Amino acid sequence: MKKCKRLISKNIIVNNEYTPSLSILSLDELWKLHEIGRHIYESAPIVGNSRDRSLHASSGIKRFGVKKAIGWIDIKLELAKRIMKKCTFCFHKCGANRINNEKGLCLVGKNSFISAEYIHLGEEKEIIPAHTIFFTGCTFHCVYCQNWKGAFRQTNEHFYSQGKLVEIITQRFNEGAKTVNFTGGTPEPHLLTILKIVKYLPDNITPLFVFNSNASLSEDGLKLMEGIIDIYVPDFKYGNDNCALRYSGINNYLKTVTENILFMYNTAKVLVRHLILPEHIECCTKPVLDWIKKNIPDITFNPMFQYRPCYKAWNYIEIARMLNENEIKFLNKLLKI
Ligand code: SF4
Repeated sequence: MKKCKRLISKNIIVNNEYTPSLSILSLDELWKLHEIGRHIYESAPIVGNSRDRSLHASSGIKRFGVKKAIGWIDIKLELAKRIMKKCTFCFHKCGANRINNEKGLCLVGKNSFISAEYIHLGEEKEIIPAHTIFFTGCTFHCVYCQNWKGAFRQTNEHFYSQGKLVEIITQRFNEGAKTVNFTGGTPEPHLLTILKIVKYLPDNITPLFVFNSNASLSEDGLKLMEGIIDIYVPDFKYGNDNCALRYSGINNYLKTVTENILFMYNTAKVLVRHLILPEHIECCTKPVLDWIKKNIPDITFNPMFQYRPCYKAWNYIEIARMLNENEIKFLNKLLKI
């Protein structure tokens, strides 16, 4: 198995000279340090299937302070904590003060809650056996949400402390999980939790990290996840902005999702999923396929046929049914299955 990206990132030292405490640096200064870490990560020599781990550099920022090495991961953690005071993890950039437990549009406050976690064998072959962790809350509010009880019903959610998360990931890894599959809902609101796991998970526990999402990270969120996530599994739901607005209440969908997927593609492995909606082959499935063929033809594409109406989908007559036989025949030809 390939070495996890986070093991490389955890060994990147951005400043090994006189360095102030990260807590007194401004956000701009932190991003500058982060960029230096990213540059080291990007320019590191490749050894075997991975990058050399013995990396360090001086950041050039010198102030009064202690002589201390600062890891790239510590800078990411500090940035994530700061951002949560006025949250911009996802494209909504709603600015909720989540440190004070204010909930954002995603309905997530200070802590990450989990509706379920188990070893999942029903995912793509590249990621199974997957230790799937279902976070609650979501950046989208899709009327047909296939997991709405887990994503939005807050009666069955559980708080896992950082220690408990590390413990359960260790346990599932020892039971045979090859990956940790962060999903939900969607993992975008949970970047600080993911970074804490990276910091505290022992280096001998080596599942690959999978970010199974709506592809709705902000620029800041994407930068924080670089060097952390091994495999992205974005759900490319719609082929146009109108359908995204109608069913998920989202503006600027295509720009957000395509920018996210291109960033993911340039920084890690990508498997794109597309849940096929009835009556939406011309307006959504075809344009999604065309975009992938044109821009990222070498990725794994998983068209999903299992749509079933649930949650509020019954209020939308055109999607209040499963795919019919004609649609499936047409799709089989289109997808050359
Ligand atoms: S993740 Fe997005 S929706 Fe949630 S609080 Fe942050 S910016 Fe707002």
